[in-house]
Amino acid sequence: MRFASNVYIVTGGASGIGRAITKLLSDEGALVMIADHDLHAGHDAVEEYGDRVRFTRCDVARENEVKRVVSATIRWGGRLDGVVNNAGLANPAIGPIEKLELSVWNTFIATNLTGAFLCAKHAIAGLRRSHGAIVNIGSTRAVQSEPETLPYSASKGGIAALTHSLAISLGPEIRVNCIEPGWIATSTFAARDRRKAPKLSKRDHAQHPAGRVGTPEDIANLCAWLLSAEAGFVTGAVYVSDGGMTRKMIYL
Ligand code: NDP
Repeated sequence: MRFASNVYIVTGGASGIGRAITKLLSDEGALVMIADHDLHAGHDAVEEYGDRVRFTRCDVARENEVKRVVSATIRWGGRLDGVVNNAGLANPAIGPIEKLELSVWNTFIATNLTGAFLCAKHAIAGLRRSHGAIVNIGSTRAVQSEPETLPYSASKGGIAALTHSLAISLGPEIRVNCIEPGWIATSTFAARDRRKAPKLSKRDHAQHPAGRVGTPEDIANLCAWLLSAEAGFVTGAVYVSDGGMTRKMIYL
């Protein structure tokens, strides 16, 4: 029970990686507020994980909604120990840049980057009081790309820079770190009626130096450690969890 009596906000905590983080933190004693815009998955998570988990519908790109979630969390738990900025538009492929509408670009930046800024901004007072921590979920796409993934990659590059900038601005009271996941198969952490086994081939697994595609639990375990007192000397850092893919040299 590493997190007994601690209180966290997990954005995008209703599905995928965020849901695995919610489960792990609540399993270890924390109160977790899910801030997500998926009503169905949010209510399903509360039903599945019980009294230590609550859900507030929220679009992280809207400042008034973020403010509301932070206040509701502190009213509920009496304190705030950490924020996991995980909500994101997770599908990076958007087509050729010549056809990329400004509105699409703006939506990616607003959700994936501005959302993390807004959550940090409104959580600071609570986190200062508890000497808390922020974990931002970036992506290995901050440092490498497939074609036609511009706004997603740019938003995740921004998350890495936001992380060190926040860490330097908010220390020593608040630690801020970033996880850059590689390929994580998330379908087992959907709402229960949408859950399915991941469709992965032997090749998908074998191309990873670690021998497999990642799981939401891989990221949840690292996130929990970064939030915990065991990581008390770690701030401003970026942790890659990608089965070794960004270290692998590929010549076709
Ligand atoms: P999922 O789509 O499975 O879950 C993301 C959750 O966030 C969903 O419930 C989604 O709701 C919600 N969400 C999306 N936009 C908003 C918003 N504006 N406000 C509040 N909630 C929102 O994504 P993953 O678990 O795959 O990804 C989680 C994070 O990890 C993302 O930041 C992603 O970029 C990052 N990541 C994921 C990787 C992967 O391989 N899965 C790899 C690298 C990074 P809804 O479903 O209704 O949109």
